[in-house]
Amino acid sequence: MTTPLIDPFQRAISYLRVSVTDRCDFRCVYCMSENMTFLPKKELLTLEELDRMCTTFVHLGVEKLRITGGEPLVRKGIMTFFDAMTRHLDSGALKELTLTTNGSQLERFAADLYAAGVRRVNISLDTLDEKKFADITRWGRLPQVMRGIDAAQKAGLRVKINTVALKGFNEDELFTLVDWCASRDMDLTFIEVMPMGDIGNENRLDQYWKLSDLRQRLAERFILRDLAERTGGPARYVELTETRQKIGFITPLTHNFCESCNRVRLTCTGELYMCLGQEDMADLRAPLRNNPGDDAPLQDAIRAAIALKPKGHDFDYSRQVVDGKMSRHMSHTGG
Ligand code: SAM
Ligand code: SF4
Repeated sequence: MTTPLIDPFQRAISYLRVSVTDRCDFRCVYCMSENMTFLPKKELLTLEELDRMCTTFVHLGVEKLRITGGEPLVRKGIMTFFDAMTRHLDSGALKELTLTTNGSQLERFAADLYAAGVRRVNISLDTLDEKKFADITRWGRLPQVMRGIDAAQKAGLRVKINTVALKGFNEDELFTLVDWCASRDMDLTFIEVMPMGDIGNENRLDQYWKLSDLRQRLAERFILRDLAERTGGPARYVELTETRQKIGFITPLTHNFCESCNRVRLTCTGELYMCLGQEDMADLRAPLRNNPGDDAPLQDAIRAAIALKPKGHDFDYSRQVVDGKMSRHMSHTGG
């Protein structure tokens, strides 16, 4: 039996987020610039390497895998990887296999994902207005995503909608989004915009809509009951008493959630980030590629990296400058 991964602050690392590609079929304005340069293919972990990497983490005690990107479902052959992870669900070592997606490819993949053992999916959607959707995603089309959501629910996947709260953009849709999610029995989580990567001409402070303000607006129409539920991440949940709907708030900028952090993030090139908000990372691709057939060096590298997991991050908008800004994009580390 291997010893589980425990960081210097006694946090057990049981949750791995894996970005399987930095590419995407959308260009959301808060996430990417219109002209992105993507990584050359040889830099990426192959599907077999992703399998070996995730399997090693599972052997070290990771129980939850979330696949993300970029857009995970545009990675060629990605179902081979999901299918390969099914064996860890079957053995009981892995408790949950899930993904975060923009929904554009779900019409095609929802049933296969369910067959591979995925039961829940997070779908990112910031507006229900077709024109605004095209504006915010630049390349996305709302009807395609709606068909993806229909397919996901039809396949039996539980859907959670993730909405980035954007000042002057979706403020007026707060109740429309809440009602729409209720009508389709979907949970809804709002995310504060984070300072990740160069996004061209957009200004973060112009986009920033504080979730404490959003929460106050919700409270004008609903009685909010705080839920004790914690996922080890930045999300806090309330229940709307009237509809029993669960609403999440991801507030990395106004809250300190780090003390219960149970997760690390692997990029598509095999870099392990111990914290979303710090630049420190460990290269796991070299110990993996240099030692075919021997996972011990990779395991050592993972343990050494976890021993460096920092206590917390330093995002801060409070002085009206974007402090603690990260040079990498969210699509690189995986949201
Ligand atoms: N393409 C997939 C999607 O959009 O769901 C997965 C990757 S995306 C980087 C993951 C999540 O990060 C999405 O919900 C997206 O809205 C969010 N995101 C991207 N950039 C962000 C930023 N700067 N601040 C806050 N959330 C961001
Ligand atoms: Fe693509 Fe997701 Fe980033 Fe939008 S948020 S550009 S869908 S990776």
